Order: sequence, then C-alpha cells, then structure tokens
Amino acid sequence: MNARSDKGMVYLVGAGPGRTDLITLRGAELLQRADCIICDKLANPALLAWARKDAEIVNVPKRIGPGSYTQQQVNQILLEKALAGKTVVRLKGGDPCIFGRCTEEAALLNEAHVRFEIVPGVTAATAAAEYTGIMLTDRRYSSQVAFITGREAEGKDQSNIDWDVLARFPGTLVFYMGIGTLPTIAGQLRDNGKPPDTPVALVANATRPTQRVVRARLNDVVEACTREQIEPPALIVVGAAAAGDPGLNWFMRQPFFGKSMVVTRDARGNAEMAQKIVARGGRPIEFTTMALKPLTDRNDFLEALTRITTYDWVIFTSPNGVAIFFEALADLAKDARVFASARLATLGAKTAEALKRYGIVADFVPTVFTGRELGTQLLAYTSLHDKKVLLLRSALASNELVDVLAQGGAQVRDVSLYTAVPQQGDAAGLTEQVQQGTIDWLTFASPSAARGFFAQVSCAVVESSKARVASIGPVTSRQLADLGVRVDLEAAEHTVDGMLDAIEETETENR
Ligand code: SAH
Repeated sequence: MNARSDKGMVYLVGAGPGRTDLITLRGAELLQRADCIICDKLANPALLAWARKDAEIVNVPKRIGPGSYTQQQVNQILLEKALAGKTVVRLKGGDPCIFGRCTEEAALLNEAHVRFEIVPGVTAATAAAEYTGIMLTDRRYSSQVAFITGREAEGKDQSNIDWDVLARFPGTLVFYMGIGTLPTIAGQLRDNGKPPDTPVALVANATRPTQRVVRARLNDVVEACTREQIEPPALIVVGAAAAGDPGLNWFMRQPFFGKSMVVTRDARGNAEMAQKIVARGGRPIEFTTMALKPLTDRNDFLEALTRITTYDWVIFTSPNGVAIFFEALADLAKDARVFASARLATLGAKTAEALKRYGIVADFVPTVFTGRELGTQLLAYTSLHDKKVLLLRSALASNELVDVLAQGGAQVRDVSLYTAVPQQGDAAGLTEQVQQGTIDWLTFASPSAARGFFAQVSCAVVESSKARVASIGPVTSRQLADLGVRVDLEAAEHTVDGMLDAIEETETENR
C-alpha cells in the first residue's frame, strides 16, 4: 500500500468571483464529495448548497478583528483534517493561486506528504472586466496585462512593486486589494510619470447583483472612490482598457439588474427560481413559506395505484406532483409501466416536461395552464362521459378542475400526492427590507405560498412600500386579493418562467 493512501486528499479549489455558477464543473463535483470544506470569506457561501448534508464546514475569514484566522491557523486546520484521512476542499475566492496564499498551503501539504490537487477558478480580474465590458487585452491598445497586489503598497520597506515600471507599462494594470491604499497607488503612478488623464475603472462586487462600476481618471479617482463609496471587494483597472465602451456592459443592462426579488415557495422551488432570477441578472431573496410533505404512504394513494390501469385518464397538475409520484413508485419497486393503457394529461407544459423525464409523453396539455382550462379543453378534446379520471395532485388544489370534469360526466377520483406544511422564514429581516424600500418584487407561485407569506409578513407593510406583487395566475391572484393584497402583475403564462417574463416586460417598459 502506498504510504500516502491513509492520509486524506486536499483540493485547493477556486470558487470563482461570486456568482455561484462561475465555479468550474470540477470544483462543483468536489464540493459534492468533500468530507470537509474550509471556506474563505470571499467564496460565495451559497456554493455550500452543493455540499453533502453531513460535510463539515469550517469558515476561516481572514480579516481584522475577532473571529478571524491567521494563515498559520488555517494551515493547521488544513493539515489536521487531511491527516485525519478526510477529503478536504479548501475553497478560495476567485482563482486559488492568484493572491490566494496557495503556495504556502500547497508546500505545507507537500512536506507532510498529503496528496493535493489545484482546481483553477475564474479570477476577479477577468470576471470584473468581462462583467463590465472592459477588455483587458485589445490588439489596438493593450498587448499585456499585469495583476498587482495593492496590499504591498502599505508602506512596506522592501516593496516588490516597481512603480517606475508600472507607470511606463504599455498595457492594462489590475490592482487587487487596492481600495484601502488607492491614494498611494494613484499617487505612485502619477509621481512616476503615468499621465494624470489615464482612464481608471473601479469594479466592486463583480458578477454579483450588487456589482458597481465607477469610471474616472488617474487624477480624480481617489475623489470618485470616496464620493461613490466604493468598498472592497473591488478591483482597480488602469489603462486605456478602463475607458471601455459602456455599450459592452451587458451584465448591468440586463432587465433584472439591481432588482431584489423575493421568492416564496418551498426550499427546493425557491432555489430553482432563484437560479432563474440570477440568470436574468437579478438578486433573489429566498423566503421559505412551506415544505412539501408527500402523502404517498396513505391508503387512498396506495389503493389508487393498484387500480391505476382501470382509469381512462390520469392527470398530474405540477412538476412537484410528478417527482413525488415517481419517488413513491421507485420505493415500491415499480416503474412507468403502471400506467399501461391509461392516457395522461397535465395542467401545464412544465408538468409535461417533468413526465417526459420518466419516459412518458403526455397525451394532452391545455393551451392555458389553469385547472378550469384543463377541464374545459380536455372535454372539448375527448368525451369523458362515464370515463374514469384519476387526479394525482396537491391536497391544497382547488375544486375547479373536479367540478368541470364532473359536469362533463366523468367519474373523478381526487387523490392527494402531497401537501404543504407551513415553514417560518426570516420574517423580521424581510419586513425590515420591505420597509427600507430595498425590495422590488414579491413573487407568488401558488395560493399556499401567498397564505404562508402573509401569515408571517404584514400585508399593511407591503402595501405601504414600493415592493410590487407578482402572481403566477388567477387562482393565486384571487388568494392574494382575499388576503387584502394588491396584485400588480399577473402572468399571462402560468409558470414560473411566465411570471419572470411578465416582470421583465414591466421592468423593460419602465426603463
Ligand atoms: N484569489 C482571488 C483574489 C484574492 S485577493 C481571485 O483570484 O480573485 C482579494 C481581492 O480580490 C479583493 O480585495 C478584490 O480586489 C478582489 N476581488 C475578489 N472578488 C472580487 C469581486 N467579486 N469583485 C471585485 N473584486 C474582487
């Protein structure tokens, strides 16, 4: 046996600049496998959603003040975990080796004969530049780029920074960790001969919904930084590239950029919707109102399942229902063949998509995604007179669909697959944000989400704020109205994407 094999394995992983999907596939895969994750302050904590539930998470912020860690302490933890035989991910902001103290950590592991792998990440310089439309290289004006640490500028005796060379550098300079020492950096460059009108850009919180960019000249950048209250983490880009073409700033021009949007579903639904909001440039705030509880261990479900072949039509009304149904099926060692000759209808396209993942093509999907429309259109499509119809859906669904189908002569059996149990969100924190006017949209994807939310957050607080209320469809709108809430927008297509499209349209109109 290899002498090293009883020791653990350490992965020095770049987390990327902030936005969670800018981590590499390799990084994400390792986060899923790790026994222990040692996490830097700059790595987005949301990445830990990839971690195993039983993974040990050690946060090691290196800042001034209590709760901070020295590099020596971090080294010690790293070594201790590895020598205990664990698979360790050392997660660092950006790229692990760009101003990331990777040399020390890798050398330490090497000395201790612990195996390690380095997983590169998107470093702040390229991310900040590309998310603001600044081109670090350009064949016309920048054939070279330098990454420089701003910390060195803190009056160090033997600085490694050659200001004379930097002042004459014919390309783009990117300073990391330089906001605190900006006066020194700007002063040194000017004193060493860099023209005072050299373009400078400060980019803070790059790739995050809170990203900001301030453009200035070398001679007024210090004042601009103070005036605009730019705070770390931020980069300083110096050179012709920094002037950029504001027209290339694609990220900050996205319709949802700078918009804070609250999602109010169950944890899994919230995470999915949050990702869609991020993809459109917005800032999601996840507020959990409920948890889905499967009811597939109850007799009426098990009984319906054994007789499923006797039904002419089986109807699913949500992707959650489809997922919970097939989970139950798998637990019973059954598969999609249970449907045999039964035909299937879904309330919407997303539910049909969910079915497709299990190899089943829905026989019928209405053009408008409400229970009433599904019933009416299905009756127009086929006669349901004396036909047996099985509804597999949420216990909280409205009676509309059952009524319409029964009126058409169908024998309807309504079986609950799941229900929603209330969950507490951070109501005090959210109320404060609504009152402070930092929330732009509250989104509701179901009546139970609306009830769950307004059981925790006062309707009057929302009404007197600038926050607008978006509803996925008429049933949810009605529930909101019953709760006394003004609905500002109702999606034309009753899906989460449809609701986001509608919000996007409103935001684009208001620009
Ligand atoms: N290893 C990291 C850099 C660590 S040094 C990387 O490769 O990105 C920390 C500095 O990185 C910060 O002071 C700031 O200058 C820069 N930085 C990190 N994330 C940033 C972000 N999202 N936006 C702007 N600058 C960032």
